[in-house]
Amino acid sequence: MIIALKDTSLVKEKQNLFNLLNSFSIAFQYIEKQNIVVLPKFNEPSIIKNQPVVESIYEIETSYQLASNVWKKKTSFDVSGIEISNSKFNIMAGPCSVENEEQIYKTAEFLSKNGIKFIRGGAFKPRTSPYSFRGLGVDGLKLLHKAAQEFDLHVVTEILDLSLLDDVYQYADILQVGSRNMQNFFLLNELGKIDKPILLKRGMSAKLNDWLLAAEYILSGGNDKVVLCERGIRSFDPMSRNVLDLGIISLVKELSHLPIIIDPSHGTGVASRVMPMALAAAAAGADGLIIEIHPEPPKALSDSQQTLSFNQFSELLLNLNTLLPNLPYSKTETHLGSPVLKLQSL
Ligand code: PEP
Ligand code: MN
Repeated sequence: MIIALKDTSLVKEKQNLFNLLNSFSIAFQYIEKQNIVVLPKFNEPSIIKNQPVVESIYEIETSYQLASNVWKKKTSFDVSGIEISNSKFNIMAGPCSVENEEQIYKTAEFLSKNGIKFIRGGAFKPRTSPYSFRGLGVDGLKLLHKAAQEFDLHVVTEILDLSLLDDVYQYADILQVGSRNMQNFFLLNELGKIDKPILLKRGMSAKLNDWLLAAEYILSGGNDKVVLCERGIRSFDPMSRNVLDLGIISLVKELSHLPIIIDPSHGTGVASRVMPMALAAAAAGADGLIIEIHPEPPKALSDSQQTLSFNQFSELLLNLNTLLPNLPYSKTETHLGSPVLKLQSL
């Protein structure tokens, strides 16, 4: 249940409501920014309705409340003038890991020439083996930030651990929570207290309910800038790195107001499968894509197999430019430029 309080409500009136809720031993959360109280489903709403401080009540049947579209129809926010919402299609692209200045500058220049507004790149990498390349750390963040500034791009990068929050906050425009951290509730809770957008990847074995409740941790802290990112779930079949669950797009849209973007790179694990899944994601109504690209994919220090070359990415943009205007969704404006690189045979 979400209780919207009157703008004119006095501190004392609010306190009376809180005391009432406490008397029922209800765990509730007051979100000052939106002047609302969030609580789990409550069976006697009439007791609350009569409180003078109450403007309106949203009775929500699901365990997630703020992530539900019973309460809110649309999430829309802006990253330095670029709108992220359910009615835009945004593309984020860049290497799996920031490796060196040349790599990240070449990538940033290429993205900017193609009208892309967001550069991705990991500086702290969650690797399965501790002996794999684990990123350049703060130096990587600085390189990414510098390249982004030079080419007027916005930075998307992973916040791997709470101890890194100050650094990542300083250099990122959107903070990515990786699949492995989707249920790091302590981290999510702290990200609820900041004012930058969070890209919340789906845990590799998370149900939709788990995922929306993870988003709820961030939302209930007062941070309403959350974008979901489907990146594939684990299955029994070793033929595919992950199973990219594109069916979740329409489900999210039925149940939530949060924008959802798709990561076909981790979702498939193979470069040749990125394009078909990216196009399918757009056709299914996704609000954007996050794609791994590299100036020389075979030399990438992480996830090289799933990384697109600039030419492959240009071809994807070309196809998206053809596809997106013909879809039945009202995504009025897309943040896609026209690919300028000449396509060679792939
Ligand atoms: C990534 O985007 O680089 C990444 C590690 O993704 P995921 O958390 O989805 O594995
Ligand atoms: Mn990767």
